[in-house]
Formats: sequence, structure tokens, C-alpha cells
Amino acid sequence: MLQQVNGHSSGSDAQGRESLREDLQEFLGGEVPLHQLDDLTKVNPVTLETVLRCLQARYTADTFYTNAGCTLVALNPFKHVPQLYSPELMREYHAAPQPQKLKPHIFTVGEQTYRNVRSLIEPVNQSIVVSGESGAGKTWTSRCLMKFYAVVAASPTSWESHKIAERIEQRILNSNPVMEAFGNACTLRNNNSSRFGKFIQLQLNSLLVPRDHQMTGAAIQTYLLEKTRVACQDSTERNFHIFYQICKGASSDERLQWHLPEGAAFSWLPNPERTLEEDCFEVTREAMLHLGVDAPTQNNIFQALAGLLHLGNIRFAGAGDEAQPCRPMDDGAVRTSALLLRLPEDPLLETLRIRTIRAGRQQQVFRKPCSQAECDTRRDCLAKLVYARLFDWLVSVINSSVCADPASWTTFIGLLDVYGFESFPHNSLEQLCINYANEKLQQHFVAHYLRAQQEEYAVEGLEWSFVNYQDNQTCLDLIEGSPISICSLINEECRLNRPSSAAQLQTRIESALAGSPCLGHNKLSPEPSFVVLHYAGSVRYHTAGLVEKNKDPVPPELTRLLQQSQDPLLKVLFPADPEEKSQAEPSGQSRAPVLTVVSKFKASLEQLLQVLQATTPHYIRCIKPNSQGRAQALHREEVLNQLEACGLVETIHISAAGFPIRVSHRTFVERYASLRRLHPRAPPDPHSPSPDEGHSEGSPHAEQATLRALLQDILHTLPALEAAAPAA
Ligand code: ATP
Ligand code: MG
Repeated sequence: MLQQVNGHSSGSDAQGRESLREDLQEFLGGEVPLHQLDDLTKVNPVTLETVLRCLQARYTADTFYTNAGCTLVALNPFKHVPQLYSPELMREYHAAPQPQKLKPHIFTVGEQTYRNVRSLIEPVNQSIVVSGESGAGKTWTSRCLMKFYAVVAASPTSWESHKIAERIEQRILNSNPVMEAFGNACTLRNNNSSRFGKFIQLQLNSLLVPRDHQMTGAAIQTYLLEKTRVACQDSTERNFHIFYQICKGASSDERLQWHLPEGAAFSWLPNPERTLEEDCFEVTREAMLHLGVDAPTQNNIFQALAGLLHLGNIRFAGAGDEAQPCRPMDDGAVRTSALLLRLPEDPLLETLRIRTIRAGRQQQVFRKPCSQAECDTRRDCLAKLVYARLFDWLVSVINSSVCADPASWTTFIGLLDVYGFESFPHNSLEQLCINYANEKLQQHFVAHYLRAQQEEYAVEGLEWSFVNYQDNQTCLDLIEGSPISICSLINEECRLNRPSSAAQLQTRIESALAGSPCLGHNKLSPEPSFVVLHYAGSVRYHTAGLVEKNKDPVPPELTRLLQQSQDPLLKVLFPADPEEKSQAEPSGQSRAPVLTVVSKFKASLEQLLQVLQATTPHYIRCIKPNSQGRAQALHREEVLNQLEACGLVETIHISAAGFPIRVSHRTFVERYASLRRLHPRAPPDPHSPSPDEGHSEGSPHAEQATLRALLQDILHTLPALEAAAPAA
């Protein structure tokens, strides 16, 4: 008996019959119930309201995926629907002669992408850009796609010869729990929010079996981890999951060793009573083990993290001047932290409370006691430094475990999962970078799909009425443009290294960029800030601390201190300098130019876009039905805002009116020219002019004429080819 599973029948026959019935119904003019409309190009008329109604009807019917022309819309179910992601269903999509005829699914996108890579027409690298606001389901979707490829692109022979944990596909999947434990956290918007961007390149080999690529490895590139979270969390949010995992999952021996008695309070561990699904230490450890991080190394990592928790408990008292330098309020926190990080205790304390400066012609060294606030900043900086290096090191360990030998892969599928658009009550440099990345991706979509496609129609002289769309170039100009933009102004402040208040920065931004339509009206706000009208909504950024965060200064004494650690892991993270540098920080004037956070981020985004531009992109738009994370609840206003922000209606209009397949003339000719030779054409009609007549070889006219001739040949040849071809 065929069983219906959330809109999916268990057999492809049933699906085929269902879609045939829908097509016939549509052809005969019958009304298809809204929830059965698989493609939003079929709603009539296409407006925000009708699109929303269709998605709402489908959501109510537990149907979460809908095509929107070139994009797939994925509604977050906010509940487990295991049947929707079963290996059987993956295989069904993989085996289907035409997966696009099955119910819309991320597996359709996955399979289409996989076929494009191995297609002989255009074997090019592919990418899947998963977008949506925080909590919309990007990471979930990327994870499911990775599982999909692990099933369909697994090498068949290795199943027998390898233990499951050793298999490359399994190792690639194991990277997820590890990276999420160290890089995700519970925020106001999402209990498992990615606090870093990730581009994973799934490497495929087509050398041995040209028509059946196999996954041979992967390479992970990460973007800007929100490291400030280690030392500073909003009272309603949490630190990175790993800290809670350790505190909840450590054995009693480990608790003793890491000085984590049950119920201990840590200031950097807010909301420990909130238990999440992600608080699973065992899963993280197991995955790390399979990625080659052995038990002793894991022990070093967790011990160092416990050391950071104790570091966060150090509080300073005192005036912070020569007469009364700051002192820790509790020596225990310093001692335990030094013990766990295997640092000498006195130098640790000295480094946190005394600044050494080099100044004058002789570059004499001065020691200056730090104020309480400076001591706190140095403590936080130490923690951020350790955590960020640890995260990068983990990524490199994962990469060395999963990355294939360059000779063993030919093409790749890139999966992009970056932090979603964010707007909190308090937004700073982190949100500016996150939203900037989202603007860049939106622009990539606009440029690739909405603009390029329409321009191409115009160039080719096709009949086309231009569909207007919202271009976010103006917003990007405001953020990153030259000569003046928000980024350039913040960088300028860092470069000049002058004392500048938050209010001054606000005034500078607002006066220098007053002409930009994307700089919002800054209504009276108690704190200095500026407003940016992003494609996905307006966000108020607070200017306090923005310049300092952008500089991200690391006092050299901190690095030198960490180089003294006896911990084998910290020794790897902070190798000793080959030649001993001066023991003091240079004075303001002689500092090397700073490479700011914004500049580094901008450069890495540009690199990412270059990679994306060299691939055929596929888009999945994740939509968050409500902000409370509740199942079966779709809030119209919230969804409407998301649909509007991503320009879905325009996308549907262009997809509905546009051409479904685009292959360049050259590729087409290269691919099909052989058919012409195999099947000689009928003698030309003496009354009609030769297609190539009068056109020099290689000219666009000649190319089009060849193309037309080829098409005619193929149309004649197809029935014979189909009859001869073995069943798929
Ligand atoms: P961020 O930008 O904050 O990282 P995100 O878009 O990556 O957000 P996810 O972490 O993927 O969001 O999803 C948020 C939560 O929604 C998940 O933890 C999960 O509980 C739920 N969720 C998302 N997609 C699905 C799905 N297809 N089925 C069931 N639950 C889902
Ligand atoms: Mg995420």
C-alpha cells in the first residue's frame, strides 16, 4: 500500500501519477487546491499576498518546500519530520529520471546540482547558496544536503573495506557537531545560531567513473567567528555551546581535573540552567575522535576552555594608578586559571594589570598600571585570543582529516551557510559584518539572476518586458563603497588612532553619508548610533566600542605570555617567535598599520564571491514562519517581510516568463556537433538558402545558424536515440 508521508508518497510511481494528475487538472482548467501548487510560478496572479496564501496553505498541510522558479523556498517546520529526510527518500530523488517532477525538496536541488556537475554538457563546479534570517533553517538545510551527498555520492566499494567511522563521508558529517559545538550559540533569535560563516567545498571525483561522481573529500572555509561572545554575552543569550557541554557532560574525574565542581558559577556562562538539544558533550567528543583529535588532545582542549571560564571570574579592584595598582578580588580565580592554562601565575597577573610601553628615542620601556576597565579588556582579549586560535586550529585539523588529495578530485559542490541577517536591540560590529555579508549574497543573487538573465534576453533580441527588482547596490555603496562609506569611516578612525567618542563617530557617519537613501533617519536614541536600511529591514548600529572592536588590538605582552604556557596545545597555538622581539608595546606613533576586522572581512567576502561567481549557483531561501520557533504557526506579517526582503515575487515573475534552460551557444555546439556527424542531414532544400550562407565562420550569425541547424537535426534524431537508449 502506498503511504502518504507529509506530502511525499513512498513510491515514485505514486508521485509521478500525482504530478500528472495535477498537470492534467491544470491543463483542463480545473482549480488546483492552493496547497497542491508545487511551484509559486503557478499562483495567479503572482503577488505577495497570493504567494503568502499558497505558502500558508502548504505549511498547514505540512508541506514545507515549494519551488519559486529558480529558487526553492524552505519553510522551517520547527518540528522533527524524520520521514522527510530519510535515506530512502534521498535515494528516491537520486534515482528519479526527472527529480524535478517529484515534490519540491532540498534533495531536488541537491540532485540537480549533482547531475550538473557530472553532466557532460557543462561539467562545472556548482554551489548552493542557502540564505534566510537567523533561525530560518540554513544550517539545518546544509546539514541535510551534506547527508544527502554522503548517501548518493558515497563510493560503493569503500562500504565493505572501511569501518563506518573511517569513511570519508562520515568524517565530513562529523565536522558538523564539532564546528557547531565550538561555533554556535543560543541567541535571542535561534537556540543554535551559527556565530561564524561556513563555505564547504564537497570534492568530487569523476576521473574513474565519469557518470557517477564520488565524494572524495571536503574543504571548509570559515568566516569571522564572533569571538567576543567568549567574554561577553547578553544576559538572555549564552556562550558557545561547548562550554555548557563541558560543564554538563564532564565525568566526576574530569570535574576534579578541570576544577568544575557541580553547580559552580561562572560569569562567562550565563543561563546554564537552560538545557538545549545541542548540549551533548558525548556527540562532540565522539565526532572529534573520528576526525583525528585523540583523547589526550581533547583533554587539553577542554582543560584550556575550563581555564578560560576561571579567567572570566577574575575581578579587579583598586584605583589602577601608580599608588594603587589594580588587584584581583579573588586570588583563587587567577590561580586556577593559571593552573589550567599552564601559565606562570605571577606573569599572568602582571600581564593583565600592567601595560609596558616603549617610547622615546631610546625606545625605553615604561610600565604603566592599567585601570580596572583596562584590566577587564586585557582579560577579555586573552580569552578571545585563545578561543579564536583554538577555533581556527580545529578547522585546520578537520580540513586535514577530510580534505582530499588534489589529484583525486576534479569538481566540487560548494555549500554556503553564513550567519543570517540579524537585528537585535543592541547591534555592533558583529551585526554590521553579518548583515554586510547578507547584503553581498543578496547582490550576488540579484546580479546573477534578476539582472544578468534579463540583460541576456535583451542582448539576444528576445521579446521580453523588463521586470523591475530591488537592487541593493545603494546599500552596499553605503557600507563598503569608495571613497566614503561606513567601513571606510570606521577604518579611518582606526588608522588615525585618535581619541574619538561614540557620538563623534555617529556625527561623522551621518554627515559624510547624509546623501545615501539607505542611511535611515536616526530618531532620538539614548545611545549614539546610526541606522542602515538593509534589504531585509532597518538596523540600528550602536557606535560605542565600534572603532576599538574594528582595531581588535592584541597587546604583544598577551601573546608572549601565552607563548610561555607549558600546555602542549597552547604551545601549538602560540609557538615561540623565532627571534625574541622587544618586550614592550611600541608607542602610538610607531605602530605598524592595522589590518582591521572590517578590512579582513571585506577581503574574505570578496574571495568568497569570486569562488561563487565561478560556479553555477542554486538558491534555497529559508523562511522562518514565526519568531518563537513554534511548530504549526505561521505569522503572516513576519513571513511577508521575509518574502518582500528577498524579492521573491520578482524572482517568480522572471522565472515564470523566462526560459528554463540556458546553455551557451559554444557549449551547445561542442556538445551536440557530433550528433550531426552521426546522423547526416537530409539533402538541403534547393529552394531555401543554406543556413551558413553569407556568414563568415565564427561570426555570431554563423554560430546561430549552426545552432539552428543542429537543433533541427537533434529534433529529428531524438526519437531514434530515445528508442535505442537503455532505461535509466
Ligand atoms: P542562524 O543564522 O542563526 O545560524 P539558521 O538559519 O542556520 O540560523 P538553523 O539553526 O538551521 O537556523 O535552524 C533553527 C532551528 O530550526 C533548528 O535548530 C531546528 O530546531 C529548526 N529547524 C530548521 N529547519 C528544520 C527542519 N527542516 N526540520 C525540523 N526543524 C528544523
Ligand atoms: Mg546557522
